[in-house]
Amino acid sequence: MSDYDTDVLVIGSGPAGGSAALLLATYGVKTLLVSKYGWVANTPRAHITNQRTMEVLRDLGLEEKALAEGTPSALMGDTVLCTALAGEEIGRIRTWGTGPHSMSEYAVASPCQMIDLPQTYMEPILVTQAAARGAKVRFDTEFVSFTQDTDGVTALLRDRLRGDEYTVRARYLVGADGGRSLVAEQLGLPIAGQAGKAGSMNIVFKADLSAHVAHRPSVLYWVMRPGAHLGGIGMGLVRMVRPWNEWLLTWGYDIDQPPPEVDDAAATQIVHDLVGDSSIPVEITSTSLWTVNQSYATEYASGRVFCAGDAVHRHPPSNGLGSNTSIQDSYNLAWKLAMVVRGEAGPALLETYSEERAPVGQQIVDRANLSRDQFGPIFEALGIAGGSDDEGIVAGLAACRATDAEGAKRRRALEEAIALKNYEFNAHGVELNQRYRSLAVLDDDGPEEEWPRDPELYHQPSTRPGSRLPHAWVVDADGQRVSTLDLVGRGSFSLVTGLSGVGWNAAAERCAEQLGVRPRVVCVGDVDARDAYGEWSRVSGIAEDGGLLVRPDGYIAARWTSTPGDENALTRTMSTVLARVTEKDAAG
Ligand SMILES: Cc1cc2nc3c(=O)[nH]c(=O)nc-3n(C[C@H](O)[C@H](O)[C@H](O)COP(=O)(O)OP(=O)(O)OC[C@H]3O[C@@H](n4cnc5c(N)ncnc54)[C@H](O)[C@@H]3O)c2cc1C
Repeated sequence: MSDYDTDVLVIGSGPAGGSAALLLATYGVKTLLVSKYGWVANTPRAHITNQRTMEVLRDLGLEEKALAEGTPSALMGDTVLCTALAGEEIGRIRTWGTGPHSMSEYAVASPCQMIDLPQTYMEPILVTQAAARGAKVRFDTEFVSFTQDTDGVTALLRDRLRGDEYTVRARYLVGADGGRSLVAEQLGLPIAGQAGKAGSMNIVFKADLSAHVAHRPSVLYWVMRPGAHLGGIGMGLVRMVRPWNEWLLTWGYDIDQPPPEVDDAAATQIVHDLVGDSSIPVEITSTSLWTVNQSYATEYASGRVFCAGDAVHRHPPSNGLGSNTSIQDSYNLAWKLAMVVRGEAGPALLETYSEERAPVGQQIVDRANLSRDQFGPIFEALGIAGGSDDEGIVAGLAACRATDAEGAKRRRALEEAIALKNYEFNAHGVELNQRYRSLAVLDDDGPEEEWPRDPELYHQPSTRPGSRLPHAWVVDADGQRVSTLDLVGRGSFSLVTGLSGVGWNAAAERCAEQLGVRPRVVCVGDVDARDAYGEWSRVSGIAEDGGLLVRPDGYIAARWTSTPGDENALTRTMSTVLARVTEKDAAG
């Protein structure tokens, strides 16, 4: 009988923990997911679900479920800046890839669309599917502490219904316990940056606001109101949860003062103020306080314990990156854990998780905080300080509409200031351009990647090792369009080649014999994946007999521009990527 109660113990059922458990269960790993509260998220915090996250869900066979629950991109993007929903418009920006230029950029980059899927809808998909695929799930179960040794981790858990404590023995522990992570704290992960930069409150409410928004459908309505500078950026936010009768309002508070008490009457008053119509019936669902952080762990793991999600990157919601990055952390980690647990990879493979994901965490924390600061130029263009009163805001808008030269100058400045917000609302490169450097990526001697366009704003496909396999539409035997991303993944390594790459089948067979792991050989060009539009040959970066070794998470581990002369090249590469090279092998 095994000494372990489970292979992997996951703490937390948020986007990071829910997706980790789901992925591990899908890969056949014995997984126990525990979470402190009685059910998943009860407030709809995260919502912007970017293309990469949708690709993860597509790989898991859950894209359709997410699309059915989410608000489609067509209703997401007419982001408005105004003095109140019923007040004056300051300007608009087409967001989340819905503008005429960015729409085609997004369509080229991925088979998936961005959607708005509130956390209250995403988490049930992740957790119920994790359970359906074999993960054990225990709510009302609090992580207390852990110890680890060379063979495993022993975690002390508290049953919050019975009140007793008990231990669970696991091979590995994943701490996905959010921004106040006890696991990260007990593990002593180094956290850089600053916590508690500003105070914010969320007010979740129901109200039919169609009259003010349905003609300019969007997820976000930014409202310049007096007092909004206290939370930092000078604007309140009315955010759609469900069109157009469920909402989440974000408003700031002075972090240097005691946290405010927000009862229903106070919350309703704030809602009426931002809507600009006090006759609208409002039903307050909940209120909560949170703080703006700019902090990230520089290491994500130690020994057999790994952290993911807000446990290791803590930042404001700007750019909508939190839940997305959390799910993508788990997508990076889960296949590695699965292969190590099955004995197909050496434990050193797990070290690449931190190497690959910590730089991504730092980048998104800094980007989200910079995006907050980049509201500043809008106020400058209007000639008003963030702390302006009603008269100041009205005077600023009037100055911006003046017919003289000064008015024209202000209008140009306002246009530029609003365009700067593309770095928050259309940051396609931030969403998709991650490049990994680690021992699980064998860089080749191809030319250094050049970035002719802004890498934060624009997606750039590449097959250089460390990049995500580019999406291209190909045509299957039934004449249906499938993405190159559909040909890889599902927990396995793939070797992507072309019609002349006949030698790769034998190479994959040799790999199976020697390592017990057989990469799936994908031939783009054959009857199941015809390059009918020529899209693949334009981005593949290899000759037809070349090969791309693609990891289960869709990242390219190695590239051969043509078939290598050495028939053991694939086995040797797989052995390195999977950390199967022992000291004896290396010496020999
Ligand atoms: C207003 C707002 C808007 C946002 N909008 C977006 C957006 O549009 N897009 C986006 O991607 N992100 C957004 N975010 C960020 C997003 O909500 C977080 O990044 C995300 O929830 C992090 O997921 P997580 O799983 O790491 O942590 P959490 O969601 O915080 O989950 C932590 C889990 O751990 C459990 N837990 C904690 N302690 C213990 C313990 N001791 N024992 C057992 N269980 C424990 C909790 O019960 C919970 O299940 C937003 C955040 C806010 C506040």
